[in-house]
Amino acid sequence: MPMKPKKPCNAPGCPKLTRGSYCEDHARPTYKTDTPRLSSRARGYDNAWERLRNAYRAQHPLCEACEAAGRVTLTALVHHVQPIDQRPDLRLVWNNLRSLCKTCHEKSHGFDTKRQT
Ligand SMILES: [Zn+2]
Ligand SMILES: [Zn+2]
Repeated sequence: MPMKPKKPCNAPGCPKLTRGSYCEDHARPTYKTDTPRLSSRARGYDNAWERLRNAYRAQHPLCEACEAAGRVTLTALVHHVQPIDQRPDLRLVWNNLRSLCKTCHEKSHGFDTKRQT
């Protein structure tokens, strides 16, 4: 009997192929009850994010919003264009990132900056 073809793991962003729904990394029972909405904040600041943020910041040392307006302002932080509360799958997506200074970041969040970056 032929083996079933492997399919990508159902975990968001996981490139591994598997014959089940999840690869061995994501097959743990806890993973399936771990909804992105509840855990995005807890998982939002891990090593992968640190590395990506540092790489992005190295490429975009100046605030992109200021740059677009002709100002030169150093990046204060790397912002998620689509908030990770709503799009946890875009958390580590380069195109979803933006280098911003503090002022532009506050504007982009409508001054509600307490949690999101
Ligand atoms: Zn700015
Ligand atoms: Zn932000």
